[in-house]
Amino acid sequence: MSRFWSAVVHGLTPYVPGEQPKLDNLVKLNTNEHPYGPSPRALEAIRAATSDGLRLYPDPNSDALKSALARRHGVQPQQIFVGNGSDEVLAHAFMALLKHERALWFPDITYSFYPVYCGLYGIAQRTIPLADDFSIRVEDYLPQGDERPGAIIFPNPNAPTGMPLALVDVERIVAGNPDVVVVVDEAYVDFGGESAITLIDRHPNLLVTHTFSKSRSLAGLRVGYAVGHVDLIEGLERVKDSFNSYPLDRLATAGAVASVADEAHFQDSCAKVIATREKLVASMQALGFEVLPSAANFIFARHPGRDGAELTAELRKRAIIVRHFKAARIDQFMRITIGTDEQCGILVDALRDILGR
Ligand code: PMP
Repeated sequence: MSRFWSAVVHGLTPYVPGEQPKLDNLVKLNTNEHPYGPSPRALEAIRAATSDGLRLYPDPNSDALKSALARRHGVQPQQIFVGNGSDEVLAHAFMALLKHERALWFPDITYSFYPVYCGLYGIAQRTIPLADDFSIRVEDYLPQGDERPGAIIFPNPNAPTGMPLALVDVERIVAGNPDVVVVVDEAYVDFGGESAITLIDRHPNLLVTHTFSKSRSLAGLRVGYAVGHVDLIEGLERVKDSFNSYPLDRLATAGAVASVADEAHFQDSCAKVIATREKLVASMQALGFEVLPSAANFIFARHPGRDGAELTAELRKRAIIVRHFKAARIDQFMRITIGTDEQCGILVDALRDILGR
C-alpha cells in the first residue's frame, strides 16, 4: 500500500496469470501454450522485419493485419480490431462496450481476468453459477422481466473448464439480448469449438475475440483481435486512440500476417493437439480421473478422493507443472495444458506413480 496510489489502485485485486518459471527441463503444462511453435513463415517474417529497421513507427491502423484477418473470416477490414494480445482487446472492450448502468453478466467459474477489469473500470458485475455439470445454461442469460444485463461476456470454450457451448446456444443468448453487447471470448475455439464469427452479419450486438497465443503458438508476440459490427469496432478504436495509438509493433504485425497466410501449418498443428488431447483424456480416465468434455488445448480433470492442490504439488516435485485454482467447486480439479505426446506420456506415468497404480 502506498500513500501515493490513487483510490482506484487500492481497490484492485490483480489478475495473476499462470507462473512462468525460469527453470529448464520442466514439463510445462500450466499456461495453455501451444507445444509445436508457430509457422516458420511467421518467424522468418519477424526476422525480415528486424532487418528492415525498427527506426520507424508502425502503422497505427495495422491495415495489413486487418486485411489478412478480414479475408480469412469473410468480413470487412473495418470489422476487425487488433491489440496486444486478446487481454488488451478485452480491456478495451470492457471500457468501450461493457460498462453500463446495469451489471455485466458473466459465469461464476470463468476467466479470472473479467472481475479484474470490472474492478479497474468500476463496472458492476453479476456472476451466474454454472450448472451442476459445469455447463453454461442459456436460460440464465436471457432477460427475465426487470432482471436484464447491461452487457454479457463469456468464453467459448469456457475457461478453465474447456467446455464448449454449441453455436445455436450462443446465438440464443445473443438474439435474446438484442439491446446489449455480448462478447464471446474465443481464445480456445480453434481446438474443436464452433466460432460465432459466422453470426456477426445477423447480430450487430455480437463481438467475438480471438488470440494468436494459443492455436497460432505466438503467445510471446502478443497479438489478439476482435470481430464485430463496424459500430462496435469504432467504439474500441476510440478507446485505443486515446490510450495507445500503436498497439502492434512492426515485429508483431509482420509475424501475425505471415501466420495467417500459413493456413496449412495452423490446421495441422491444431489437429495434432486435438489428437493428443483425445489420447490424454483416455489415459486419464483409465486412471480413474473424471475429465470434463474439452474443446480447448487443455483439460480440466479431478480424481475422486484426491485433492487437486495435492496432486498439483506431487506433480511439481516431479518437475511437471499444471494449474490448480483455489476456488469453490473447482478445488479438486487440475487444468492441464495439452503438450506434446511425449510430455503427456510423462504426465500420465507420473500420475500413475502418484496414485500407486
Ligand atoms: N481469454 C481467455 C479465456 C484466456 O484464457 C486467455 C489466456 N490467459 C486470454 C483470453 C488472453 O490471451 P492473450 O492475451 O494471450 O491473447
